[in-house]
Amino acid sequence: MKYFSLNHNTKNTSFSDAVIRGLAPDRGLYFPEKIPTLPKRFFDRIEGMSIPQMAYKVIKPFVGKQINKKKLKEIVTETLDFEFPLIEITDNIAALELFQGPTLAFKDVGARFMARALGHFNKGANKKITVLVATSGDTGGAVANGFLGVEGVNVVILYPKGKVSDIQEKQLTTLGQNITALEVDGVFDDCQEMVKTAFLDNSLASIQLTSANSINVARWLPQMFYYFIAYRALKHKNKKLVFSVPSGNFGNICAGIMGQQMGLPIAHFIASTNVNDSVPRYLDTGSYDPMPTVQTISNAMDVGNPSNFIRIQKIFNNDLFRMKKNLSGYAYTDDQTKKALKEIYAEKKYVADPHGAVGYLGLKEYLHQHAEDLYGVFLETAHPIKFIDTVEKTLKLKVPVPERLKETLSKEKESISIRDYRDLKSYLLD
Ligand SMILES: *Cc1c(COP(=O)(O)O)cnc(C)c1O
Repeated sequence: MKYFSLNHNTKNTSFSDAVIRGLAPDRGLYFPEKIPTLPKRFFDRIEGMSIPQMAYKVIKPFVGKQINKKKLKEIVTETLDFEFPLIEITDNIAALELFQGPTLAFKDVGARFMARALGHFNKGANKKITVLVATSGDTGGAVANGFLGVEGVNVVILYPKGKVSDIQEKQLTTLGQNITALEVDGVFDDCQEMVKTAFLDNSLASIQLTSANSINVARWLPQMFYYFIAYRALKHKNKKLVFSVPSGNFGNICAGIMGQQMGLPIAHFIASTNVNDSVPRYLDTGSYDPMPTVQTISNAMDVGNPSNFIRIQKIFNNDLFRMKKNLSGYAYTDDQTKKALKEIYAEKKYVADPHGAVGYLGLKEYLHQHAEDLYGVFLETAHPIKFIDTVEKTLKLKVPVPERLKETLSKEKESISIRDYRDLKSYLLD
């Protein structure tokens, strides 16, 4: 499989090159030359496969021969080495829990896959790779954890000061080894802009920089697995499936739509956002007007200008009509999100997190507007403990701290404060 840049100003390249570069030299996002399809017998037999067997078949055509069969199977098996429970909330609504990995958020899957792929590609090379990543919350922790101790790779994380939760901050500032956290005086979009600038800066040419944001194909594509996992578990219901995805940078939902294009029977996608609603507004009005980021209680989705949206546009060939047949979008305020947390708890004594609650709201709204016999899944993208203040205050209960988090919380934060791009550059060159 070859990858091309969505800016169309650079040569097509291999999977490994796309993974190592992150962003194409013309600043475009990489996209596969064609979207492979899976044969009918794959879907007929899906329940008989283990999750790693299934995932291997899904990702294989995107990787091609660049990682051999045995190694790719090993990478996929290690990546998916935890549970993905489906929790029924009502007769036709379930939560797909994606937070059972080491950092309690769904980004673990993409980060673990990418770390292993990049480590594999850089094996034996004499130059270290520096992974530069901006985070609005969960990416940093997942990437840091995924790459911790990977030989030949340094990780530098930029996060907005005071705008991530305490737990998120601990997860990205306490690891040490090959991981460094830079605390930026600004918002997430400032961090993301600095990362993009660094990639284009010729004076940094001596450093092999790559990105681990969902712009990187090795982080983005493995997120397809969630939708296959849910389908595999729900196939026996014989219902049309719809997915509501709490969305920020739109990598996760875009991966789901890729899965659908490969043949996965999904009837519709719902992009659920907080008030950072560029995409729902686009679906309403047909014009894409990104806005400055607004801070919310679902902070991992505080993204004013989602970078993966261009990939979704590509999938539908920039045809708004086609896009709207497959994708709806709804946006919610923090007050609505808190009400949803209460509603989900009242329904099933289920403690959701604010991101999952936004997903639930979008799903309810879509199901309400469509009388068909549908089954809806909303993605529970983070453990409620990561948003403990909001969840405990809203639901008036205590969320028990999972064992794997206790150790992280007991460690001291270590970070370097930076204000602007100049500071970042001098850190990298030092
Ligand atoms: C990153 C994140 C999201 C948004 O995912 P995108 O792929 O950026 O749309 C939603 N919820 C949580 C908890 C996240 O960490």
